[in-house]
Parts: sequence; structure tokens; C-alpha cells
Amino acid sequence: MLDAEAFANPQGVERTIRTALAMLRPPPDLAPSEWAEANVRIPAGNAIPGPYRVANAPFQREPMDMMINPDCYRVTLMWGAQTGKTTCALCVQGYAIAMRPRSQMMMQPAQGDAQTWLETKFNPLVDSSPAIRKRIAKPRGRDGVNNQRMKSYPGGFLMMAWAGSPKTMRGRSAPLIVCDEVDGYLRTKEGHPVGLLWQRAATFGDERFMVEISTPTIKGASYVESSYDDGDQRRFHVACPHCNEHQALKWEQVTWVGRISSCVGDALEDLKHDEHKPETAAYVCVACGSAWNDGQRIAAIRNAESIGAGWKSRKPFRGHASYHLWEAYSTMRKLGDIVRDYIAKLRTDDLQTFVNVSLSETFEEQGDKADSSELEKRAEEFPATVPMGGVYLTAGVDMQTDRLEVEVVAWGVGEESWSVDYRVLWGDPLAGEVWEELDALLAETYLHESGSPLRIAAACLDTGGTSGYTQCAYEYLRGRTGRRLFGVKGIGGWGRPIVEKVMRKQSGKNARKVDLFGVGVDEAKLIVMRRLANMTPGPGYCHVPASRENLAEWCQQITAEKLVLRYVKGQPVREWRKPDKARNEALDCRVYALAALKIMQPPLKRLLEKILTHPRVSGTRPPPAPRLNAPEPPPPTEMPAEAKKTPADQTPRIHRSPAARRARSNWVNGWKR
Ligand SMILES: [Zn+2]
Repeated sequence: MLDAEAFANPQGVERTIRTALAMLRPPPDLAPSEWAEANVRIPAGNAIPGPYRVANAPFQREPMDMMINPDCYRVTLMWGAQTGKTTCALCVQGYAIAMRPRSQMMMQPAQGDAQTWLETKFNPLVDSSPAIRKRIAKPRGRDGVNNQRMKSYPGGFLMMAWAGSPKTMRGRSAPLIVCDEVDGYLRTKEGHPVGLLWQRAATFGDERFMVEISTPTIKGASYVESSYDDGDQRRFHVACPHCNEHQALKWEQVTWVGRISSCVGDALEDLKHDEHKPETAAYVCVACGSAWNDGQRIAAIRNAESIGAGWKSRKPFRGHASYHLWEAYSTMRKLGDIVRDYIAKLRTDDLQTFVNVSLSETFEEQGDKADSSELEKRAEEFPATVPMGGVYLTAGVDMQTDRLEVEVVAWGVGEESWSVDYRVLWGDPLAGEVWEELDALLAETYLHESGSPLRIAAACLDTGGTSGYTQCAYEYLRGRTGRRLFGVKGIGGWGRPIVEKVMRKQSGKNARKVDLFGVGVDEAKLIVMRRLANMTPGPGYCHVPASRENLAEWCQQITAEKLVLRYVKGQPVREWRKPDKARNEALDCRVYALAALKIMQPPLKRLLEKILTHPRVSGTRPPPAPRLNAPEPPPPTEMPAEAKKTPADQTPRIHRSPAARRARSNWVNGWKR
């Protein structure tokens, strides 16, 4: 040891030596969950901001700590809403930055998802947690890279990748891989993106560690479910406060006044009456039948590990730990709120979202086999152009090289629908005249059974196809901002929302940009098909007018595509197929009309109440004769005065574009002529 006394400045030298020695000391040997408690701060704006506390979500401890289990190379989290799967992943990533530095990759379904994750999850966490912040290179600094693609730190880097772009994966690999929302990944020609990343990391040998996270999607085609099944299938067990029986929580054991169904399979039974009382929700012990209130359920979750319950696997562990967790495990959720959400989803014909997002289970398809002759058979006479239940009109426009096809759909409560008009406008979109016809059509009014004239409140125009046509669709849209006429572009892939974040497209040099919405066509078609197969009028049901010209042809077109399951390298892939020469424009039109509804999100129930309490004309009285210099027609009855708030649940998020906002605020009297 150096003798400090031999120097002129012994205190300074001693201090220097002490600091130098501290740098040599290895960091304390903390497990990821312990390190997270000591170092991670959940940013403000989250449910429980402040220092990370594993006691608030004890089920996160084990999967996090698997990272330092030398026998484990893969962790799968098939977790539902409100379970903190993102927090779990962030703690693992933070640990790999601060404690055991190594390079890592973070994969998201699309570039937008990667950006959102950086801006709303990763960056805020870094900003609020000094242990991570001090290691990450400063933006524009000299000591490393810090941009939208990459964050570097001593000992490694974190690289962003997205499944939609093989380019972001090419030539890159890292020993730690986190794949978020894997059920939203599109398979590429080379294979599934997760498999590709994993293969590429092979050079790291036993150092490789991968975390896959997702809510599941459709039975038979869900990547995360097959991954969960491949692993050792763990469920979190809790002890009954009355009889001490250890059990995993199940939806079947949730009870409330009004429940008729016994499981998801017979959920539609719960639509049979209106007297649900979600506030009476309780959990029933599978062994002794006693009911647990929220406090008892949450205490059972918090205590589980200390009394020897907690995660239990169904299969032997062979290096791949897989975890299932659903919303009832959240210590921040009341059971009554989950039930309330279930009933709301059921009534709006959106059971799949509840099953996927809350229960974290795959949804089993029953009704995707819509049949054209069945559909034709139940066509009905409409009592008016727009029957009473249809209170909001949207249009979907499909563009072909020699024509436009347009469907006008009336929507009611629970998205019950009436096809009120279908027209083919002949003419080459490049020539221009057909667009004037479209203007005229979109400006028409439709007579509602109450006597009120209804206008088309919003429309979506397909801009896909060849580039010349896409350009002229942009041109048309550019002159019509403020009219709730939205350009859409179909995007394939499962697990996507029906309407995605808006993209801005330049249409020609110096021209104003056009707002374009991505439409998740695979999921949208599934909803349309399921509804067409629904035989019971009510939520989701599609009414077909017997008076439609070429009814048989229309029914064939709208049901033209079938979902098929095929296997690519042993992995199931679901896709829509249509017979070679079959036409499907009617289906596309319906998908775009649905997209327009999803963009606007009108309060359908309130609109119905309004139309029922203020019928414009009673019965069959003829409308007054037109006068010269007649005043502007009254504003349509269907427009809400204010934007409806999206419930803060799992409804796909829609980022309203500036154009959509402009349209809302500039609304005067419907379509300008
Ligand atoms: Zn019990």
C-alpha cells in the first residue's frame, strides 16, 4: 500500500486512493428485482409513481430474476392489461445497463411502436432513475450514441428494431433480446422476426437471453400462446383467505349479480338481460366456495410467495420459463371494474378485446364463416331508407382503375348496422370526372325513419393500388380537408388496431400534406365477417336490404374472403384468401366504412336517444314543398356537439390527426356542395 504521509498533500492523496479503490470494488450482487427496488423510479403519470416496489406486483419478481438464473435462456410473458409487463421488461433492460453491462436489442411491431416506447416508457424511466441515467450517453455527446435507434452505455448498447423492417435487424445481434407485443409481428419471407433475432444471437452461446411479451390474439395463430405452451407454463397461485387452498385465479370463478354465463364460451348469455350489477363482483374460492372481496384478493396476491404459493409450473423446466397472468392479478384493479369492462365490450360486440387484453387468452373463432346464401336469405324490407336504429352514416370508398365503389352504412347502438346504399361510379379515377360524382354522392341526404334527413358524417377513401392512382386519390383528398373525408391505406398483420396512427403524405411537390390513416385490414375483416355470420339482431348484427340491386352479387362479394390457416416452417399463419376470380370490393367498402366510424367514435347511444325524443316529422306527413331562396337545410341530427371521450381502457388508441380535428371544429352543415 502506498504511504500517503510521504506526500506533501497526504489528505488529497488518501482521498484519491480511496476513490480509485471504490472504482475497483464490484457492484453489490443484487438480483434484478432487488436492484430495481433500489434504483428504479417509476416516472410521474403512472399508476404508482415513485420508487419501484415489487410488493405492488409480486408476480414480477420471479420472471425478472430469471435473467440471472444460469439455467434459463428464455422467458415468455403472456400477460394481460394492468399487470406491468412493460415495467418488468424495463427493469431487466435497466439491469443490463447498470449492473451486468451487455448489449441488447428491443423489438417492437412497427417503427411507430418503437418510437412510442422510447418516448413514453424508456426515456421517462431513464430521466427519473439516476442509476441508469448516469450510464447512458448524452444526446449529441462525445462519449457514445444516443438517438432514436440506439442508446450506448459503458459495456454495450441498446438497439431498437421493428418487425416490419428486416433492415433494422440485418447484421445486428445482441445477447439480450426483448421482444414486445410479439403477436403483432408480421412474418417475413425469411421467417418469424423473433426466430430470426434468436438465430442471429447464436454466436453469444449460453449468454443468450430472450424475453418475449404479448397479449395473445387468435386461437391457432397466436405466437405468444405457442411460445407459452412451449415453455413450462407457469400460473400464479394464491391462497384462499378462508380455507387456505392454493389456486390460480380464473374468470370462471368471478361472480356478480346478473351473471348467467359460466365461462367465455357462453358469454352471449349475459346479453339476455340488462340487470348486471358489477359493483357486487367477488371472487369465489374454487375449494370452499367462499367469496373474497377486493381487499382479500389483493392481500392473497401480495402474500402468495411468503406462504409458499406463487408461480407454479405445469411442465418441467428446461430453460424456458413461461408465465400467464390476467387482469384480476392487478393490485390496482377492482374486480367490479373488470366486470364493467366485460359487459361494455360484450354489448359493443367486442368480446375478443376483453378475452385477449383482460383475460390474456386467445380468442376462439366461431363466426368467421359468413355464408353468402344465408346472408341473402335474411335480407329484409327496410321501413325507410334508414331504419330507426341507424343513427350515424359513414361511407367506404374503394378505388379501382375504371370505377369507384361506395357503400353507405347506418350505424346503431353496439355497432348494429344497416347497409343503406351501394353504388358503382364508373369512370377512370385518373380522368377526374368520377370524383365529381363522388362529391355529389357524399353530399346526398338519406331519409331516416323518424323523418329527419341524415347526412354522411364521415367517409374513408382507399388510396392503395398503383402509384398513379394513389397520387390522384391524394389530389382529391387534398382539396377536401375539413370534410371528414379520410384517406386510408390497408396494413396487413394480426393484432393491429382497426385504425392506426395517422401518417402524413406529401402529394406532389410543394403541395400540402395529406393525412392518411392506416387500417388494420386483417382484424377489420375478421370483425366484419364475424358480424355477417351473426344471426341475431342486436349488437354487431348486419341488416341487408332486400331491395338492393344485384343482391346476390353483393352478398357474394362481401363474403368472398375466407380465413385459412396454413403452416410456414411449422408455425401457423392465418390469412385471408379469396377464390381467384372472385370480386371483393363490397367487403373492402364495408371495412372502410367501419374505419370511418372508428375514427369518429360517435356516441351512438346518445344519438339514438336524441333521435327518439326529437323526431323531426311525425309519421307520414310529407315534407314541406321547397321554396325559392330556402334557408340552408337544418344541421343534421346525427352530429354530436362535442367529441366523445375515449374510455381509458383498451380501445385501440386513435391519434386524431390535425385534419380530423380541423374537420371537427370546422363542421357547419355537413358536406359542402
Ligand atoms: Zn377457500
